[in-house]
Amino acid sequence: MPVQQELQLGIYIHIPFCLKRCAYCDFTMIPYTAQREAQFLTAIKREAALLSGSPCAKGRRPVTLYAGGGTPSALTPEGIGALF
Ligand code: SF4
Repeated sequence: MPVQQELQLGIYIHIPFCLKRCAYCDFTMIPYTAQREAQFLTAIKREAALLSGSPCAKGRRPVTLYAGGGTPSALTPEGIGALF
């Protein structure tokens, strides 16, 4: 009997906040504010709920969570905690 391999899922979250735009930057970013952080975390929560029911996530277990940016450390410790 073949062993069924676990389907794994890697997650990338783009955290778009920076304190200011660097002169050479072409990435998607917006200046950080506490209000934007709260809106961002609410949107991420909604998107995670939406995607968790999608066919591409069905039966898969998340094994990695990568956060890029922007500047991920622009989030407050509470925001990072809420994200994870
Ligand atoms: S994403 Fe990186 S390079 Fe761009 S503004 Fe932010 S810190 Fe600077």
